[in-house]
Amino acid sequence: MIIVSSCLAGIPCRYNAAHSEAAEVAALVKEGKAIPVCPECLAGLPVPRPSSEIVGGSGEDVLLGKAKVLAKTDAGLLDATDAFVYGAEAALEIALRVGAKVAVLKQNSPSCGAGSIYDGTFCGKKRIGNGVAAALLIKNGVEVISR
Ligand code: SF4
Repeated sequence: MIIVSSCLAGIPCRYNAAHSEAAEVAALVKEGKAIPVCPECLAGLPVPRPSSEIVGGSGEDVLLGKAKVLAKTDAGLLDATDAFVYGAEAALEIALRVGAKVAVLKQNSPSCGAGSIYDGTFCGKKRIGNGVAAALLIKNGVEVISR
């Protein structure tokens, strides 16, 4: 069993209430070979929700308390770090319970991104790094494949 980002499975759980369906990922779920997981939904964040980026580092830095996840709202940038860490921990819990050794995660997300994330400027620029959930899964021995 593997876990996959819910939005890759076709579930419209992205910040803008869209999905990012990847046919091969959706097929794995339909065949019962993969479990869809959305860390941000597991944290209780709404759909739609403000776009968020990691500011000051990567997902690893967030887990170490050295960077924050900020949500861009009409009232300005709000600290969403606690929710993103909670969601990452919930995703890891599911991975451990089902014995998942592999996760296929959505690229560039502040939660699921692996290898590339937005750079915290909300300008559409990217930087090398992992999202919070990807970082926690990797730290716990789960192979993360970016899609
Ligand atoms: S947190 Fe992950 S699964 Fe959820 S919408 Fe974002 S990229 Fe998709």
